[in-house]
Amino acid sequence: MTTPLILVTGAGGFIGGHLVAELQRQGGCRVRAVDIKPLAEWYQVFAQAENVQLDLQLRDACMHACDGVNDVYQLAADMGGMGFIETHKAECMLSVLINTHMLVAAKEQRCKRFFYSSSACAYNLELQRSEEIVPLKESDAYPAMPEDGYGWEKLFSERMCRHFTEDYGLYTRVARFHNVYGPFGTWDGGREKVPAAICRKVIEAKETGRHDIGVWGDGKQTRSFMYIDDCIRGIRMIMESDAVREPINLGSSEIVTINGLVDIVEAIGGVKLQRHYDLTAPKGVNGRNSDNTLVRARLGWEPSLPLREGMRLTYEWVYGQYVARRAGKQVTL
Ligand code: NAD
Repeated sequence: MTTPLILVTGAGGFIGGHLVAELQRQGGCRVRAVDIKPLAEWYQVFAQAENVQLDLQLRDACMHACDGVNDVYQLAADMGGMGFIETHKAECMLSVLINTHMLVAAKEQRCKRFFYSSSACAYNLELQRSEEIVPLKESDAYPAMPEDGYGWEKLFSERMCRHFTEDYGLYTRVARFHNVYGPFGTWDGGREKVPAAICRKVIEAKETGRHDIGVWGDGKQTRSFMYIDDCIRGIRMIMESDAVREPINLGSSEIVTINGLVDIVEAIGGVKLQRHYDLTAPKGVNGRNSDNTLVRARLGWEPSLPLREGMRLTYEWVYGQYVARRAGKQVTL
């Protein structure tokens, strides 16, 4: 019997890179890692993996990527934090080409299993108007009114997974990620998400001695953030599970306001900053949290690393990147 070949797409990105790391650590499989970016721009590169640069918006590239593959982890998407998705809606929606061609290729190449990374942005916006959010449960995606652009694409691609299962018998698993954070992800340049952005801003304030920080919105927005190790564990469990056949939340249920997140990072950095609130900046929904009833029932598990601990690890990594960049070294943003 040959060793199974596992495909990770978006492997040059944040979550994909960590997933390849975990598969390599675990062993017992060969890994094909694919991303559109040149290898020099990947956050993590593993020499033992087959590392390939392909544009997965193209059908032929997807056929090539899926050739001989057992399991597909489809994490490639043109995306970023709120600052990006609110201003690049068409670009976000074009990820539908990746998902369409990847599903077709997985079916044609007879891949055994297909994992799709959806998002909490697929949830109905009407339920996220208040900071005092009722955590979102899986059925709250319908009636549909997701995040414009990015969220509609996610919901549509979730639906495609469902119909590829129903019509073609393709084994699919879909997780709705809620804000993932940790080392080896984007931390500057416009695509970064709030945890890394706040780490960078606090570090900048500390290092430059300008003790202030810009916060997008009024800081009262509520969110939950899942540490990358919990995300990777959840992805693997969901892919393996017989009990998870519908889209399922993968997120932390530890809720925090953006101001609370700044408090945490200030405490890590040992500084107190003057906050300036930019009410015109993209701030996303007012409240969002993950209802983990289903994931607990189906997997007997849920993401659990405390935010303070995960943010400490993230801060240390961003600090290392900041210092390396200042010293003129090449870093991946
Ligand atoms: P990321 O941007 O770090 O990684 C995505 C990767 O996909 C990038 O490296 C990018 O170069 C690659 N890519 C884009 N277009 C491509 C193409 N045409 N062909 C090949 N590769 C292409 O993002 P991430 O945070 O690692 O997210 C991974 C997945 O999880 C995405 O589908 C994202 O929508 C989803 N997700 C992430 C979060 C989060 O908080 N990080 C939350 C919800 C959902």
